[in-house]
Amino acid sequence: MERRMEHLRPAEIEAAMSACPTLLQPIGTVEWHGLHNITGLDALKAQALCIRAAERAGCLAAPPVFGGIGGLDEPHTFVMDPDDGYDSRVVRGWYETLCREAHRQGFRAMVLLTGHYGAGQQILVRETAVRMSRLLHMPVLGTPEYFLALDEGYTGDHAAFFETSLMMELDPDSVRLDRLAELKEGESHQGVGGRDPKKYATRADGARLAEAIVGRLAGLAQAMPTWDDATLARFIAAEQALVDRQMSLAGETGQAWAAWRNIPRGAFAAYPQLLTEGRFEEIVALVQEL
Ligand SMILES: [Zn+2]
Repeated sequence: MERRMEHLRPAEIEAAMSACPTLLQPIGTVEWHGLHNITGLDALKAQALCIRAAERAGCLAAPPVFGGIGGLDEPHTFVMDPDDGYDSRVVRGWYETLCREAHRQGFRAMVLLTGHYGAGQQILVRETAVRMSRLLHMPVLGTPEYFLALDEGYTGDHAAFFETSLMMELDPDSVRLDRLAELKEGESHQGVGGRDPKKYATRADGARLAEAIVGRLAGLAQAMPTWDDATLARFIAAEQALVDRQMSLAGETGQAWAAWRNIPRGAFAAYPQLLTEGRFEEIVALVQEL
């Protein structure tokens, strides 16, 4: 069945919301993603994952937001708020309004899934979700998609092995590896950050990562609206601890990416499992490893 809310009529929306009142909100931006990928990759990647999860959970996926903090200094890139901070003139209010509107429409849980993830964007999305969870008394999870597959070794990149593999699975026609040159020793592709997609990206890797993310998203979509007050409070405490730690590390060092220093080493690999199993106190403890 169609799960994209904007493609449904009232009766279909009402049926889906009675079955599972969670809204999955994909977020990305318009940004250079190498010569081989489309500029809407971040939002469309998040949307494809949200649709698959919505099909499995029986809930709805919102239309993607094309707008986030920062972006590469490359052509065809829209920067809606500067990358060097967590203040936002545009994006925060937009995301908050989406949460308020979802709540007003009768949704009882929400996931802000950002496929665009500079450090400022990730902190803003998580911090906004925590605040809106409190204000709306409704669980809102705000996370980059790779946080739901950290235990699969997915630590996020830019248009490189990970993102390109995912798109080979989610939207294969969008990827044109033939547009990339073969790299010589020491070279890199323009505006691509991570392992060489031309050499390493595979649809099988994309399928494995997508399955991990979709499984977690679907599980959360079904569970979140059923949480009682105590569970909601424990969830908020865990997500608040995570984003507080990220902000403190960024503030101490003056570097937005400082909070991610131990993530590539696997320090936070248990997060997706702990989150989906509701082991929130263990997330609070894990935060110290960042
Ligand atoms: Zn991206």
